[in-house]
Amino acid sequence: MKRGEARTDGLLLSTADDWHARAVEALLAAGCRNTAPRHAVLDWIASRCTPFTAEILVAALERQQGLSSRPTIYRTLEWLRAEGWIARVQSDENAHTYVRRLPGHYHQVICTQCGHTLIMRGCTIEHALVPALSSIDFEVHGHVLELYGVCGSCRVEQPAP
Ligand SMILES: [Zn+2]
Ligand SMILES: [Zn+2]
Repeated sequence: MKRGEARTDGLLLSTADDWHARAVEALLAAGCRNTAPRHAVLDWIASRCTPFTAEILVAALERQQGLSSRPTIYRTLEWLRAEGWIARVQSDENAHTYVRRLPGHYHQVICTQCGHTLIMRGCTIEHALVPALSSIDFEVHGHVLELYGVCGSCRVEQPAP
């Protein structure tokens, strides 16, 4: 299976090309010019399948001459986060960690060893939980869910003892 192909089980691999094309389109539609520094940020995030912090991104782009505009990087990250193209997945005391995602209601399935992220479409969580919650007189208005585990490749590489 090629990366990016829809899978029949409702899972979609988070692919670099698909994400990049859609994010650039959204950026232009929002009236932002796709300047070289912004382009570098999108390129880098698109090629990244593991979670990252803003400082990892800044450090990577500083190695590319002329693309080390920290304010632009932070503003671009903030725009991507606000529009749903990246999500905060974990935070320690010092920094937020991001992964790329697609706008809309999806759930992420994240491998804790290699960081590969799958995007899960089709959500039945509330259908499953609403009966129990309504029995305690609670009305659900939304939810956040991230699933962590170990992908097949990582399990093959590191068999359980
Ligand atoms: Zn893995
Ligand atoms: Zn959901």
